[in-house]
Amino acid sequence: MNKSKPVLEFDVAVIGAGQAGPNLAMTLAGRGEKVALIEGGLVGGSCVNYGCTPTKTLRKSARVAYLARRAGDFGIQAGKVEIDFAAAMGRMQQRVDESRAGLEASITGQDGLTLLRGWGAFTGRAGDRFELTAGDQALRAARVFLNTGTRAFIPPLPGIDDVPHLDNVSLLQLRERPRHLIIIGGSYIGLEMGQIFRRLGSEVTVIEAGPRITGHENEAVSKAITEMLRGEGIHFYTGNEVERVENIFDAGIAVTVGGQRVEGSHLLVATGRSPNTERLNLAAVGVKADERGFVPTNGKLQTNVPGIWAVGDINKRGAFTHTSYQDGQIVLANLKGGARSADGRVSTYAMYTDPPLGRVGLSEGEARESGRATLVANFQMKDVSRAKEESETAGLMQILVDEQSEEIVGASLLGFGCDEVIQVISNFMATGARYQVLRDALPIHPTVAEFLPFLLDQLEPLK
Ligand SMILES: Cc1cc2nc3c(=O)[nH]c(=O)nc-3n(C[C@H](O)[C@H](O)[C@H](O)COP(=O)(O)OP(=O)(O)OC[C@H]3O[C@@H](n4cnc5c(N)ncnc54)[C@H](O)[C@@H]3O)c2cc1C
Repeated sequence: MNKSKPVLEFDVAVIGAGQAGPNLAMTLAGRGEKVALIEGGLVGGSCVNYGCTPTKTLRKSARVAYLARRAGDFGIQAGKVEIDFAAAMGRMQQRVDESRAGLEASITGQDGLTLLRGWGAFTGRAGDRFELTAGDQALRAARVFLNTGTRAFIPPLPGIDDVPHLDNVSLLQLRERPRHLIIIGGSYIGLEMGQIFRRLGSEVTVIEAGPRITGHENEAVSKAITEMLRGEGIHFYTGNEVERVENIFDAGIAVTVGGQRVEGSHLLVATGRSPNTERLNLAAVGVKADERGFVPTNGKLQTNVPGIWAVGDINKRGAFTHTSYQDGQIVLANLKGGARSADGRVSTYAMYTDPPLGRVGLSEGEARESGRATLVANFQMKDVSRAKEESETAGLMQILVDEQSEEIVGASLLGFGCDEVIQVISNFMATGARYQVLRDALPIHPTVAEFLPFLLDQLEPLK
């Protein structure tokens, strides 16, 4: 802390300019509060800089390469497909830079809001105000919102400390294409990255310790995704923990798994996320965190200390941009006298493999475990006419309905356009209406969504 600088006084301090923080800070400043937004890294956090924005931008380059290779299927002769990896990464970086610059301009243009660059931490209390630092700047605020997000969790694999390895940040900084990318972790980030890099011309191997990839999803979904990605040339090793990771002199890295040795040029570790809370010095003000550092909250996103809230990934109530942003909206509504809660929020997300997986509510396994009487309907994408017309027929659809209430309680849609189609169901679920309302609504032809009413007409008991 720089003692020559005066202590700054604020009504509100927001730590972390991720997905909830900027909107919270700008809205409260717009309501007349004096607000500090403290950011130690890059404004926009994970999503803008090394999460959603870059991966979905790069995914498009990968999809263009995929379609160009398949051009003959559509009666188009595109010639030999060559990948300009650096150009694809450059396009991605441009989108990231534009997005961050736009957000920064909004923040710095907001009256009443001060962006403090530096890592934020608590130092104690002065009466009913919290004392903090942002880098070398001391400040005080009456209310504090924590929005510090997560980073890649690197498990203690034997040998990992001696081997150069990539995470979601450093992978996106590559400007030379990996010859053979080995990915440890067969979940959302690993699979999205794996398919993208495969389509951009890398050899890709995915290693997953669980018995199957996307272990949280229905078995049929895991199977369909495995087949789809194998069909594109991705290799899988499942069901065994990594035994050892080592350098191969001048030639890359080797991973031993299930007694087999896999050699590659680069290693990506995609095995989950750790919360960015250790820098915050939470103990100085008595905020409780769990054993992994996540900060529990009540439904209003309040921590155990009155006057301090935790929003976004660090409260473990979601791991997505939309959940973080909605956390901020809940807090803003409640500060204006509302009674919104994150309790009972129905989980909804997409995994952006191509085709994508759209998910809402329960999976088949979760419905079974819940013990409730459930109705189910399944459909294959190969029978969806729009998918046939697109020549993109991989995937399946499943909808689950509670037999007693007749409400939809879950859906897994893997297939063309399903990141969008799933929102028909999630928005419908938010109305609390019986499934018959959606079944009897008029759909548009030819769309993937037009099969939802058809599916809802085929319900039978889940065995
Ligand atoms: C590869 C990848 C792809 C993803 N794709 C998607 C997707 O397609 N859709 C989706 O919904 N989600 C996606 N996610 C998840 C999404 O990025 C996160 O859920 C979201 O960014 C979480 O937002 P947040 O507000 O909690 O924190 P973050 O966005 O992580 O922001 C936290 C900010 O706090 C700052 N910070 C941390 N500690 C301090 C401190 N002590 N002082 C000051 N600043 C601090 C950090 O520098 C960071 O800027 C993806 C994530 C990854 C890694």
